[in-house]
Amino acid sequence: MRVYNFSAGPAVLPEEVLKKAASEMFEHGDSGQSVMEMSHRSKEYEAIHNECEALMREILAIPDNYKVLFLQGGANMQFDMIPLNLLKTGKADFVVTGQWAGKAQSEAKRYGEANIVASSKDKTFSYIPELDSSKFDPNADYFHICFNNTIFGTRFPELPETGSVPLVADMSSYILSEPVNVSDFGLIYACAQKNVAPAGVTIVIIREDLIRDLSDSKVPTMLQYKTYADSNSLYNTPPTYSIYMCKLVLEWVKSKGGLSAMKEHNEKKAAVLYDYLDTSKLFRSTVEKRFRSQMNVPFVTGNEEIDKKFIKEAKAAGFVNLAGHRSVGGMRASIYNAMPIEGVEKLVAFMAEFEKNN
Ligand SMILES: *Cc1c(COP(=O)(O)O)cnc(C)c1O
Repeated sequence: MRVYNFSAGPAVLPEEVLKKAASEMFEHGDSGQSVMEMSHRSKEYEAIHNECEALMREILAIPDNYKVLFLQGGANMQFDMIPLNLLKTGKADFVVTGQWAGKAQSEAKRYGEANIVASSKDKTFSYIPELDSSKFDPNADYFHICFNNTIFGTRFPELPETGSVPLVADMSSYILSEPVNVSDFGLIYACAQKNVAPAGVTIVIIREDLIRDLSDSKVPTMLQYKTYADSNSLYNTPPTYSIYMCKLVLEWVKSKGGLSAMKEHNEKKAAVLYDYLDTSKLFRSTVEKRFRSQMNVPFVTGNEEIDKKFIKEAKAAGFVNLAGHRSVGGMRASIYNAMPIEGVEKLVAFMAEFEKNN
């Protein structure tokens, strides 16, 4: 029996996608082989690869002057690739809204000046700080935000006004959850294992003018965006199976009505959970209302023993991976696209029952 999986990542995938992958696992089309076994230079694989990119462009309405790259190394590798490729003056601005945003800043320090314009560390990252654009460096090479903070369950209510400084956003736990205006950003990146595919592939959407020729620099070939942009992300062997799964997930998103339908579905689910948390006498949300994420919902009882008991009993009842991140404790329900509304409704019913008994 399948459980309701509230993992932050690797996370739940749509059942239709898993079934389709299972049906094609042994033989993909009439190729006589699994996608896992295909040469990445074969016609069959190339069709999957190109279709994945075409669907990504269509669903996210990506303008023609942006490249879509399929990389490896997770979001963490982008914490290095971004400064290595984008720093020219050697300065970048960062808003530190959690652990990932902090890592992006601390890695960038290896390569230049990584200025923190605002942080919400004072209140355990439970809000998004007010931004004063007079503190932004107009000569910065980029301005980095983590749009949705997976661990702390916050998201930016609006984008910072960075003028001509390219906005760079970590969208690992946000991409495909609702429409975005890609042209507001210089670069968007996301590891796949939250809302897009199994682990393995990392998506980078980059404005073409930010792709520099670094062939005479010390930047390793494998860490230059241009290497991937010039080779259709086929410079070396890409994570072929993850890209195939990404294509299936994109087909699923499209069949459900695209990103506006995802937004509606995700808002409904999040409302079910937050409405309960706001009326519960046992559980409460840890995040200020206007900064709440639709994807990652942390909550606590205020008593560690009861938190532990809840996580244990929830698991036994088929609601798994509800423990909060190891750095914050408590609980967290990640409710990505593939989590059906029944999963959230049943979780809330279970929480109400637990509340009665505790
Ligand atoms: C999961 C996550 C990461 C880390 O991704 P890896 O693929 O493990 O490197 C970074 N940023 C955000 C926002 C995440 O949710």
